[in-house]
Amino acid sequence: MRLLVTGGCGFIGSNFIRDMLTRHEGISIVNLDLLTYAGNRQSLADVEAAFGGSRYHFVRGDIANSELALYLLEEHKIEAVVNFAAESHVDRSITDATPFVQTNVLGAQSLLDAARHYGVRRFVHVSTDEVYGTLGPDGKFSEATPLAPNSPYSASKAGADMLMRAAYETFGMDVVVTRCSNNYGPYQFPEKLIPLMYSKAMADEALPVYGDGLNVRDWIYVIDHCRGVELALMKGRPGEVYNFGGDAEKPNIEVVRTILAALGKPESLIRYVTDRPGHDRRYAMDFTKAARELGFAPAWDFTRGIAETMAWYRANGDWLDSVNSGAYRQFMASWYGER
Ligand code: NAD
Repeated sequence: MRLLVTGGCGFIGSNFIRDMLTRHEGISIVNLDLLTYAGNRQSLADVEAAFGGSRYHFVRGDIANSELALYLLEEHKIEAVVNFAAESHVDRSITDATPFVQTNVLGAQSLLDAARHYGVRRFVHVSTDEVYGTLGPDGKFSEATPLAPNSPYSASKAGADMLMRAAYETFGMDVVVTRCSNNYGPYQFPEKLIPLMYSKAMADEALPVYGDGLNVRDWIYVIDHCRGVELALMKGRPGEVYNFGGDAEKPNIEVVRTILAALGKPESLIRYVTDRPGHDRRYAMDFTKAARELGFAPAWDFTRGIAETMAWYRANGDWLDSVNSGAYRQFMASWYGER
């Protein structure tokens, strides 16, 4: 199978590409990535070395460039598209929503247009639990939960989800949407909770925790998410949405304490900071549909996953140094430096 994967130099996309190429000899992948501050080619250096020029090709470009996407689809006789490319950080969307609308909405539609003109067999769009909004203390999001996004990021993702639905209903395109909970694992940028707290703790700096620290997320190890996307690609029904979760609900403060304990650092490093505006209180995913129809089941429990993740960051200080530079460092300094 020949795939066009977008956003493959980001956190989840790079894990997906590595996992697919190493486990399936019959798969080749073209990775279309704009290399924004969140994209890092070094995250796939091992993949380039092993499969570059044969089963793996990297192209720097924008998913909003329909002509480029169409050219790649034709040139590589692509059978399916998996769209990971996005602006993904909620805090940045609060500072400036424009790039989020540009990539997550207009970019997704441009890619969809190219896929339709070319006649791609399948289009998988990777979305998020955040499109459902927030939960009270009980209950879980199912695929039937109405969309109620609360941040510019989640609103832009919900916009794309609706465009995917429209492509199926209007044009009969074979589109599948996946919605997953919070991922953690190797190659995640240190703007996100777990690698941020790891980096700060290792440097003996204050760990900024929003509000009372009791916002709850359902954590999933990134490889479990990648396997879910693979199942949706191979077995999902056209026009359907599939939820994925890790069955690991944790308040943020518990995650932070787990990291400090794993690194042997004191809890006195924790600093509570002004809450994020519109901060969703709780997410939890009901993924019985994906379990029933696709055979999805998360394999990593949180204890094993977080230990593996800490070990990976410890062993890959070079990767962390490489991302903590340039435009990314400037953003981090302006955002967290003020807090
Ligand atoms: P990321 O920010 O780590 O990576 C995004 C990648 O997309 C980067 O490599 C970036 O260079 C690329 N990109 C951005 N704009 C682009 C454009 N216009 N054209 C081409 N490439 C572009 O994000 P991530 O955490 O890996 O998330 C990947 C996808 O999964 C996103 O769609 C996100 O909404 C979704 N998702 C993420 C999580 C999570 O916990 N991280 C959970 C559920 C869903």
